[in-house]
Amino acid sequence: MKYYSTNGQAPIADLEKAVVKGLAEDRGLYMPKEIYKLPKQFFDDIQTMKFQDIAYNVASNFFGDDVDGDALQDIVYDTLSFDCPVVKVEKNIYALELFHGPTLAFKDVGARFMARLLQYFIKRGSSKARSNGTVNVLVATSGDTGSAVANGFLGVEGIHVYVLYPKGKVSPIQECQFTTLGKNITAIEVDGVFDDCQALVKSAFMDKELNKHMKLTSANSINVARFLPQAFYYFNAFARMKALKKADELVMCVPSGNFGNICSALFGHEMGLPIKRFIAANNANDVFYQYLQTGRYEPKSSIQTLANAMDVGDPSNFARIINLYSQNNQFTPEATHHRITNLISGSTYSDYHIAETMRQCYNKTGYVLDPHGACGYQALKDGLKPGEVGVFCETAHPAKFKEKVDDILGIDIEIPARLKAFMEGEKQSVEMTKEFADFKVYLMQQ
Ligand SMILES: *Cc1c(COP(=O)(O)O)cnc(C)c1O
Repeated sequence: MKYYSTNGQAPIADLEKAVVKGLAEDRGLYMPKEIYKLPKQFFDDIQTMKFQDIAYNVASNFFGDDVDGDALQDIVYDTLSFDCPVVKVEKNIYALELFHGPTLAFKDVGARFMARLLQYFIKRGSSKARSNGTVNVLVATSGDTGSAVANGFLGVEGIHVYVLYPKGKVSPIQECQFTTLGKNITAIEVDGVFDDCQALVKSAFMDKELNKHMKLTSANSINVARFLPQAFYYFNAFARMKALKKADELVMCVPSGNFGNICSALFGHEMGLPIKRFIAANNANDVFYQYLQTGRYEPKSSIQTLANAMDVGDPSNFARIINLYSQNNQFTPEATHHRITNLISGSTYSDYHIAETMRQCYNKTGYVLDPHGACGYQALKDGLKPGEVGVFCETAHPAKFKEKVDDILGIDIEIPARLKAFMEGEKQSVEMTKEFADFKVYLMQQ
């Protein structure tokens, strides 16, 4: 498969280059030249297949040209070592629980898949991914991405991960998920804010001397190997709903921040997945919602909310969605907007509304929503039409936001054993100033 850039100014890349580079030379996002439809037979039988096999079929459709079949199957099975059940919350509303992975966040699947695919390319030893030594992944995090990437890459031979995070600005549960791992994961505690961490990573990628010294790459969420595998969730959800005979008019609702997750669902739709329509649920960061209403995209600075993993004011994957529905600029902006609003609607919720939703859902059904899932649930409550059945993504385990959830619902939710285990590990981190010169000296010694 060949990949082009949404900015149209970069050379065509193969999968390996798209994965290793992440972002194209013109700072655009990589898009596959073609999205193949899956055969009718696959959708006829899908309800009889298990998650891993459904995912392998989807993965072959995307990556089969570039990755040997047995290796791809291995990668998929290793990535999906846990289930993503669809749970009935109330009549016609179901939660797709994406939080049963190692760090209890849906980003686990993309992170692990990318780690294993990168490892495959390193082992295959073709020139671009190979270096004389280790491939070094730099990732800046405000919390969730760091834990998913660190755990996804943990113990993967030939790759070392540096997680940069702002000192004192991530929750204790988040911090222990990437500072207690050891092995090939190094946590770097930066005396600054998230933007300083991101600036250090960007400067490192641009520094010629450093790039000569060591092979650097990023595990950013715009990487095709991180966002595409999330499509597996939607095929599996469809299969489980079809088994319940509830899949005829299925509405998929995705709590969205950087729009990677919903973008993967839309790619699934392009592959033939029969979802009737989609809803992008937002917190108070509503640029996409505004785009749907007006046809104008006006990025803003993000505002802090209860659902903080969705606090994004300029979602990276917006460019991908536009490119998909404009068919790489073949449609006018107006026609593209029309095509998008035919398939996707939006909603936006304030913190007050999110908390109210969590309380109402808990009191009525007993289901504990986390603040992100709450946006998805409420968007279905508000938007579902007669005859439709809705599935919303529950993107994080509520215990990851224990203080907030306990406070809002007046309960004391149990922390899953897996999360507790992280909290018992010993914190190890390297202290760093926010000056690039210091960071560079450190990396040059590695
Ligand atoms: C990252 C994240 C989101 C947003 O997903 P995008 O792919 O960025 O739209 C939603 N909920 C949780 C818990 C997340 O960690």
